[in-house]
Amino acid sequence: MPDLPPLRDVIARYGLSASKALGQNFLLDSHLLARIAAVPGDLNNVAVYEVGPGPGGLTRALLAAGALVTAVERDRRCLAALAELAEAYPGRLRVIEGDALKIPLAAVLPEGGAIIANLPYNVGTALLVQWLRGQLWPPRWTSLTLMFQREVADRIVAKPFTSAYGRLAILSQWRSAARIAMPVHRSAFTPPPKIMSAVVHFTPGEAPSDVDPAVLEQLTSAAFGQRRKMLRQSLRGVQGALGALSAMGIDETRRAETVSVDEFLAIARSLS
Ligand code: SAM
Repeated sequence: MPDLPPLRDVIARYGLSASKALGQNFLLDSHLLARIAAVPGDLNNVAVYEVGPGPGGLTRALLAAGALVTAVERDRRCLAALAELAEAYPGRLRVIEGDALKIPLAAVLPEGGAIIANLPYNVGTALLVQWLRGQLWPPRWTSLTLMFQREVADRIVAKPFTSAYGRLAILSQWRSAARIAMPVHRSAFTPPPKIMSAVVHFTPGEAPSDVDPAVLEQLTSAAFGQRRKMLRQSLRGVQGALGALSAMGIDETRRAETVSVDEFLAIARSLS
């Protein structure tokens, strides 16, 4: 294992004062970072895409676990520190300066790789939606291991009849399994954010047959866009939806919050 300077020294040497605008809350505890890198399982020679390596704490843990890492970082101040890390692990770390929201996944992740990141909170959900959405399934990733604000993590794994249940839960669960792998206390970050966090682990499942993702999205967007309204009101604008409810014996006075993922799939299937 290469002998690397403490992360705090790297941050001081390269003047990496945390930028709020870039969602910078760094993790410096090597034990915690190793635990996060262990969540997806054996990473030896596995291609990993990391968004936002920052000073490189999680990147170090991924490299130590044997991963082949491609990292996209928006903050050019971090690039020199990351170049040092790339030198310590020849041929195992590729760093790209850029905005992860604008880089196609195919450019940074080979088929069958894993995505692992302590995501910047301001773009975390948008990135997740990009990775979960799409017609092609299974996706090119075999797992996602992602840090989110605890409240977002709760919305991802939420079940019906809870206030956290909504579009994000359905997007996360209809053809993937998502679980909270590890809560992370706010004090683990430098600087500490106001809120708690959690690492969520996703694996792709089998896509249910005959469900068009675009139709499911239209349906859940309408249903949860007016989540306090009865389905007969919220789904009024979705062509054929009310007919599908009655054909399936789903009571149109129910609210979106009470409709299970399987029920949404059945409605979407009949409209697809
Ligand atoms: N991985 C480091 C760690 O665990 O300590 C840093 C995590 S910090 C929460 C998020 C990182 O994402 C920061 O380094 C930030 O500069 C970077 N970042 C923010 N927006 C980004 C974007 N759109 N594309 C790529 N990186 C971004």
